[in-house]
Amino acid sequence: MNQVRPPAPQLADIEPYDPKYIPAKIMVSANENSSDVPFDIRREIERETRKVAFNRYPDPLANDLRDLIAEANGLDRDQVIMGNGGDELLFNIALAWGGPGRKFLNMPPTFSVYKNNAQLTNTEIVNVDRLADFSIDEDAVVARLAQGDIDFTIVTTPNNPSGNIASNDFVARACEASDALVMVDEAYFEFSRYTARPLLARYENLVILRTFSKAFSLAGVRLGYLLGSERVLTEFKKVRQPYSVDAVSQAIGRVVFANRAKFEKEIDQIIEERGRMHDALCALDGVEAFPSESNYILFRLADADAGQVWQRLLDRGILVRDFSRSAGLEGCLRVSIGLPEENACFLAELKAILEGAS
Ligand code: PMP
Repeated sequence: MNQVRPPAPQLADIEPYDPKYIPAKIMVSANENSSDVPFDIRREIERETRKVAFNRYPDPLANDLRDLIAEANGLDRDQVIMGNGGDELLFNIALAWGGPGRKFLNMPPTFSVYKNNAQLTNTEIVNVDRLADFSIDEDAVVARLAQGDIDFTIVTTPNNPSGNIASNDFVARACEASDALVMVDEAYFEFSRYTARPLLARYENLVILRTFSKAFSLAGVRLGYLLGSERVLTEFKKVRQPYSVDAVSQAIGRVVFANRAKFEKEIDQIIEERGRMHDALCALDGVEAFPSESNYILFRLADADAGQVWQRLLDRGILVRDFSRSAGLEGCLRVSIGLPEENACFLAELKAILEGAS
């Protein structure tokens, strides 16, 4: 019997992405919004999606949606590009700016997808590790960029999984240090209310990544976008899948973006809950909770085995994310901020587990 020949060699060290998305009563592992799109907006979505011609290809660039986003950001259509979730655009930056003989500067611990995409595209990874409190080693990053051989870097703000932001002073220094493309991944910026958007006019080598998956409750729909200079985004157009953003997603995105002000109350509530959760976690013996400007909190367990605590939370119907076997995140779990009752339940169960009162 014939056996299949091996795949491309760069796949040898890559594990398929596995977010361990196990069904549970309380899903607080993937930084989603625990509330679905509000009912009145869903009604409007239903009306709009009824008009979609399923037999026709969608507008490849989702121009109507681009126009809405461009206008809200004081930009032109050519300074916005849509993707099948932020993930597609993260893959596309590696395709367009990476490749054999090219270099990506990473700042781990951070979103693991960046590293995978670099490996897939045979891009060399240059790591400048974050400091013990997960802040960026700013001088080291700027010095490394200034050597002039880095092709692109990604600054995650707020960082996933640690939750801290990068300052615009640092982003500006990174953009000035060389001509490397600097992507600022603002997947969670609605929760920090801090953006590098004002810097776009100054730096052609800056792009900003955003998503509909978090604050706008659309993780299931797959919509992300980039803001940047026309020259840079033209290169992204060359590598993108022509019809990656389907017609239904485009219609949903238009309705949700037009109604984005209606999500503000929910975002306020998540920010408030985040403060309460942080205080409550810090009050637990043996728990170190890291300050977060996002919709999740990373915490380290000093005295308990984090993997076991993850399992015991799951046994009680609560799914959080286990990072305890990731480099630099030993002993760490991450919990997304859910509804107040979900957060209260998580805190009570975690307390009971840590006190051994199972
Ligand atoms: N960037 C960061 C930092 C993320 O955490 C995520 C989602 N996990 C994304 C980008 C991509 O999100 P999506 O593909 O759902 O837009």
